[in-house]
Amino acid sequence: MKGRNRNQFEKKMLQQVKNALSGYEGVTYWKTYGRLYVKLNGHPWEPVAGRLKELFGLVSLSPVRSTESGLEEIRSAAMTVMNALGKPPKTFKVSVKRAWKGFPHSSHEMNHLVGAHILRAFPELSVDVRNPEVELKVDIQEEATYVFCEVIPAAGGFPFGSNGKALLLLSGGIDSPVAGWMAMRKGLEVEAVHFHSYPYTSEQAKDKVVELARRLTYFSGVSMKLHLVPFTEIQTTLAQSGQEHLIITLMRRAMLRITERIAESSGAGGIVTGESLGQVASQTLASMNVIGRATQLPLIKPLIMMDKQEIINIAYRIGTYETSILPYEDCCTLFLPKSPSTNPNLRVVERIEAGLGGLSDMIETAVRDTEVIKLYPNAPAAKSDNPSQEDAWF
Ligand code: ATP
Ligand code: MG
Repeated sequence: MKGRNRNQFEKKMLQQVKNALSGYEGVTYWKTYGRLYVKLNGHPWEPVAGRLKELFGLVSLSPVRSTESGLEEIRSAAMTVMNALGKPPKTFKVSVKRAWKGFPHSSHEMNHLVGAHILRAFPELSVDVRNPEVELKVDIQEEATYVFCEVIPAAGGFPFGSNGKALLLLSGGIDSPVAGWMAMRKGLEVEAVHFHSYPYTSEQAKDKVVELARRLTYFSGVSMKLHLVPFTEIQTTLAQSGQEHLIITLMRRAMLRITERIAESSGAGGIVTGESLGQVASQTLASMNVIGRATQLPLIKPLIMMDKQEIINIAYRIGTYETSILPYEDCCTLFLPKSPSTNPNLRVVERIEAGLGGLSDMIETAVRDTEVIKLYPNAPAAKSDNPSQEDAWF
């Protein structure tokens, strides 16, 4: 991000930070190049950090003590920060950055002036410039100096919605909600599309998908559309085609055709799926090739190179795992053949589709009868356990 578009991203980010913290009274905000400041107005920092670290577009956050830009004030703020550390470290170093050139001491001098002050107060402590347990950072600017030592990794990526819109194929499984989260993390606004085969699939299966989509809205902080596509007629027709081993291939291609139509009307420029290479028969290279040719839109597969356990770890972190493992049948599991093809042939598949009179009419009908619901974030309490103790997202 360079030049003027950087400012647009940062403005968007600031607005999303404000939205996420709208419940905190009297909090004030400002931004400088590449950095956002939140003045807490007395609110404890832990729950605020817990919420902010989930926002897309933030690389990291730090609780900082701000003070006047004077030597004694800075030394005293440094002491406060050191004293606030739970367990006293054995080694540390001071890293001063002097953005305000009018400050009377150089950053090199300041490293010593602050370091010596701390060492006098903590006789057990020693300096280690290479691999210190604690790096005390001092950022001297004209209007204030910021002192901090914690750097909490945040979700990273781009601010939500800064990279356009895509449709997420959302099943009730573990993978697609994670794929959706990863797409959103990269700045894609997402609308979800779910195919159901009511009455073969239950009302609970639908509720489960609604719940998963709603969970995703928590991370964007804004509403999300969920398109519920009636897939029963197409599925039963394909199931009767006498090509058991190709049913999944045919079903997926029909799904993509319908999704492409929905994309046209909703202005989406891509389709996100939860596929992961080799996980099931429909996710071999050959299968994905034949399936993918049913659409012109780019297929975005964030999980393609991930292992199941890595996907599950993220599902835990984003709070979708518990819902995903509820036992309700998905429309695909229901019609799962005993030996699905891992190596379908495009021409054979196209011939079968051409022989199924009425497939395009059925696709039209499914598009027309798609129900759209809008889901709003039902802000669960921010996880407020000390966020600095959690691992990075990746
Ligand atoms: P998931 O855990 O997301 O269900 P999976 O490993 O079970 O994925 P499949 O069931 O083969 O794999 O589905 C592959 C992808 O196709 C899903 O990740 C999802 O994006 C899409 N998909 C499958 N079933 C549906 C459905 N009923 N509605 C919408 N999308 C679906
Ligand atoms: Mg599935």
